[in-house]
Amino acid sequence: MTTSRQRNRFVIVVTAASVALALAMTVLVWLAAGDIRPGVAVTLISLLFLTTLFVAVCVAAARELARREIVPLESLTAAAENATAGDLETPIPTDQPQTLTRIAEAMDTLRAQLRVATKSRDYLYELIDSMSEAVIVSDLDGVVKRSNRAAARLLGSDPADLKGKLLWELFAESVRPGISMDDLAGSGGETVMIAADGQEVPVSYTSAAISDGRSGPEGFVLVARNISERKRAERRIRYLARFDALTRVPNRMQFQHLLQRGLARGRKNGSRTALLYIDLDRFKEVNDTFGHVAGDRCLETAAERLAECLPEGAVVGRLAGDEFGVMISDVGDLASGREQLTEIATTVQEQLSNTYFYEHLEIFLSASVGIAFAPDDAGNVIDLIRNADAAMYNAKHDGGNSIEFYRPEMNVATVELLMLKSKLQRAIERGEFLLRYQPKLDIRDGRVVGAEALLRWKLPGRGEVSPTEFIPLAEESSVILELGDWVLKQVCEDYRAWQKADIDPGQIAVNLSLRQMRQKDLTQRVRQRFREYEISPTCIEFEITESTLMEDPTTTVEVLNEFYAMGVNLAIDDFGTGYSSLSSLQRFPINTLKIDRSFVRDADIDRDDATIVSTIIEMGRTLNMDVVAEGVETEGQLNFLRQNHCHYVQGHLLGGPLTADEYLELLRGDKDGSGRHRALFAVS
Ligand code: C2E
Ligand code: MG
Ligand code: MG
Repeated sequence: MTTSRQRNRFVIVVTAASVALALAMTVLVWLAAGDIRPGVAVTLISLLFLTTLFVAVCVAAARELARREIVPLESLTAAAENATAGDLETPIPTDQPQTLTRIAEAMDTLRAQLRVATKSRDYLYELIDSMSEAVIVSDLDGVVKRSNRAAARLLGSDPADLKGKLLWELFAESVRPGISMDDLAGSGGETVMIAADGQEVPVSYTSAAISDGRSGPEGFVLVARNISERKRAERRIRYLARFDALTRVPNRMQFQHLLQRGLARGRKNGSRTALLYIDLDRFKEVNDTFGHVAGDRCLETAAERLAECLPEGAVVGRLAGDEFGVMISDVGDLASGREQLTEIATTVQEQLSNTYFYEHLEIFLSASVGIAFAPDDAGNVIDLIRNADAAMYNAKHDGGNSIEFYRPEMNVATVELLMLKSKLQRAIERGEFLLRYQPKLDIRDGRVVGAEALLRWKLPGRGEVSPTEFIPLAEESSVILELGDWVLKQVCEDYRAWQKADIDPGQIAVNLSLRQMRQKDLTQRVRQRFREYEISPTCIEFEITESTLMEDPTTTVEVLNEFYAMGVNLAIDDFGTGYSSLSSLQRFPINTLKIDRSFVRDADIDRDDATIVSTIIEMGRTLNMDVVAEGVETEGQLNFLRQNHCHYVQGHLLGGPLTADEYLELLRGDKDGSGRHRALFAVS
């Protein structure tokens, strides 16, 4: 606008100068013609020149004014153009003529704000780009506007290629129908996307509508994470839950399930099903002699051979270590069934007794097979397995490598017991043992002072077997030594774990059996274990029954003296059931007496039992021993024991047997005084 005004002024000045020149010429003409006098002419011409000079000065002034405003304007225009092109660093010059200063200052402020906004935006993009989750932003029509590096990685394509695609094109075709606009506006879960090469990619995702906060939604943002690894792991877990990892045949659970279905089918068709229970003979020796890897290789080979030699439709499963089950459906009548099954079992035996190779070794094995029929021998899966197992056990008992059909007399208690014994031998290797801890409480205030470690055997297919059932069996062989060693090791491990949790577990009692007591190097082994786990012997108490104590007093006293010297606490378990006299007890370095629960049971209602219990407590006090009452189940018993000044109590009323974690929880509750059992000890 200023420039056009200046141009106008210039035109006016030129016009004025031309008019002045024309008038001067006219005056000169008039002078030549003698119309005017020379004096008047001089005056007129002078006036004309003065006017022209004035006009010239005006023109010069106008030009200067124009120059001063145009240059700053041009520089402002250039700065604005620079800022538009992205140069937000160079400040806009604000030393302008007064008229432009405010414009320049406003522009500079705008530039500074733009710079901050641009920086934040770049930071945000940087942040999104560095995320491990794929981020894809689309407009409201689902057209991809932006995506980060992780999205490109996830879908195996370039961010530039993703731009412009439709969001649902990125999902696998199978899931597309289930994805609507509404879903994208706010949903999440697991779905399948499709990579550039057509590969399906399982993802977990969340999606949301995005808006600038002023107007409505402007588009969607999808955040996705590749979960292929997790899906693979899940598939593996599902597989392992049903199949044995080593032999890749159905595991016991799955086999039972298949057997169940087979029996149901048989019932429906009125057909017979046979179960072969196969056990490799002397497999333990292979493990012990050649090692577990060799053993594993034999099992793999055995499973392969079974699968190859069995008739079509037969189902193989691994029931336990070296035990396999085979289900044969649609067996004919019993007589022909026996013939058919004998043939199958013989083939199985032949195959399984072929040489096994491991590295340069040749390993020889044989197999015992027990066979039972459903519905003839058993109507359900559990009984069928048990009966086929009993038949197998009989086959084994005959020296192995033989075949037996189930007969009802096989399943009598003694056979079960023998079977149990044979299973017991492998139970440690199979990790079927567990420890539980039963807390011991101070009768004065209910404080937990320790616990007794109690052994549990979880036998597959049978459930929990009581230690009263299997300890005597284990005692019949050296299994008890292995078992005792396992218990001590486990106690030490748990003890370390409790200590690490910053909790004092108190004193842990471990039961020792007669055969363990006779073990020559028992004290050395125990010492070694304590060293290995850095456990102070004073943290452990050994419980020995009264009968064990009296079995061979001379040797026992030596062993106990060694333990005593070590600092281990010693307790007499099930006290009252034996025939110890006071004087005989004094020979042993015993710290604790545990009153057998058969006396505690009726102590508060039966006069004789009351006398026995109070006498034992009294006797313990006289001998300077701690007295623990076992099997406390009622408050009446607890009150009786309190009145008779028993020191410690143990029993179902007070808790346990607990897992190591549950015991830790109990100790924690006890430490902060919130333990449930404390109320029982509150003095009224
Ligand atoms: P015990 O050493 O006298 O253990 C006490 C038994 O009484 C435990 O039975 C325990 O669960 C049970 N009991 C505790 N409180 C109550 C109660 O209030 N009422 C009743 N009815 N019973 C209660 P469990 O665990 O069956 O153990 C039985 C025996 O097996 C033990 O008697 C012990 O002699 C032996 N045993 C357990 N674990 C081991 C072990 O690790 N090694 C050895 N050698 N023997 C063990
Ligand atoms: Mg005990
Ligand atoms: Mg006991």
